[in-house]
Amino acid sequence: MDFSLNKEQQDIVKAARSFAAKEFPERAREFDREEKFDLGLWKKACELGFVGVFIDKKYGGLGYGFLEHCLINEEFWAVEPGIGAAILSATFGAELIQMFGSDHQKNTVLPKLAEGQAIIGTAITEPDAGSDVTMAVTTAVKDGDEWVINGSKMFATNGTIAHYINVFCLTDPENPSRHKRHSFILVPTTAPGYQAIKIHGKLGIRASDTAELVLKDLRVPAENLVGVAGEGFSQLMAFFNHTRLHVCAQAVGLSRAALEEAVRHVKGRIQFGQPLAAFQATQFKIAEMATRIRASRNLYYEAAWGADCGKLDHGLVAMAKWFSGQTAVYCADEALQVHGGYGYIDEYKVQRLYRDAKILEIYEGTKEIEKTIVARGVLR
Ligand SMILES: Cc1cc2nc3c(=O)[nH]c(=O)nc-3n(C[C@H](O)[C@H](O)[C@H](O)COP(=O)(O)OP(=O)(O)OC[C@H]3O[C@@H](n4cnc5c(N)ncnc54)[C@H](O)[C@@H]3O)c2cc1C
Repeated sequence: MDFSLNKEQQDIVKAARSFAAKEFPERAREFDREEKFDLGLWKKACELGFVGVFIDKKYGGLGYGFLEHCLINEEFWAVEPGIGAAILSATFGAELIQMFGSDHQKNTVLPKLAEGQAIIGTAITEPDAGSDVTMAVTTAVKDGDEWVINGSKMFATNGTIAHYINVFCLTDPENPSRHKRHSFILVPTTAPGYQAIKIHGKLGIRASDTAELVLKDLRVPAENLVGVAGEGFSQLMAFFNHTRLHVCAQAVGLSRAALEEAVRHVKGRIQFGQPLAAFQATQFKIAEMATRIRASRNLYYEAAWGADCGKLDHGLVAMAKWFSGQTAVYCADEALQVHGGYGYIDEYKVQRLYRDAKILEIYEGTKEIEKTIVARGVLR
């Protein structure tokens, strides 16, 4: 199969790279240290057409595939992962609305996301429901023409800045199948009863907003149900098959940044009368990094290409997700190692990359869960 990019895709890569290189480096350390972000950068990225490119043209997007969104993710993360995360997660949940939302939901929400007038998030995780999402106990109970939502959510990306959150709710607790008990409900964050508490002290991607949500007697119209009641779990799996691809692209971008930092350092640093690059032990690290990056990219290109051609392969997405996450953690670790003590200090970008990398093995399915999916497919 030929996964070479066409001219339009190559242009997207160039434009994304050039925007990130111009706008991100100057502010990255400040955002990381102070756990903050300037939404002006997100606005700018929206104006230039980098955000929500997969949103259909009829809803104000560019109508590109998931591969194009991945390419932008890779370039942004190759420059500054934290800022890439903050900007491109602004549409985390648009995929769900586009796939399963009503015409009214699509017409209301998607144009605002594409135009940079709104941010969305998707809240599934709870204090007692992480990898096993079927344990989610945030309830949504029908009361006349409204849903009444009560519960709490953990680690919701964009929780304090979003205009909308897709909330994964228990709507049919008595259903004999635990995969039929939940539904997504679209919640405007202005609704009374919505409270978001910012989580401080994250290891990495500290420019990205993460919050705990407390939802108390929160009422939304019945029409805010996303798709069919009881289909929340299967919608979530379909949603993850796309968003996990974005995580793969993030991982490849970060790995590239780590390799770049490593190469620059080992060429310049002299020990025992030679640049570090002259030692075979260093060369082996560089070779491993470059090879793993290439393999990770090929995996995610193939998976994203399949998704865009209507041949989505769940097992391949899972393979790409765990492998690229591991590649990012490996590359960041080795890049720091070749920096010696300097890499341990936050004056050096490589320290930030080391901290930013770990999330890639955790969110949207831990590496253990991804490997379980791969193994299940192989053993079936
Ligand atoms: C920065 C950040 C952003 C996030 N953004 C969001 C968001 O926007 N929305 C959202 O809903 N969630 C979000 N999350 C939550 C994230 O998706 C979860 O943390 C993740 O799914 C793991 O759940 P958990 O933390 O409860 O860990 P657990 O599920 O408790 O897992 C703990 C460990 O046990 C392992 N484990 C669990 N089950 C098994 C098993 N069956 N076999 C083998 N090992 C297993 C896991 O792999 C892991 O290593 C975010 C998290 C972070 C840190």
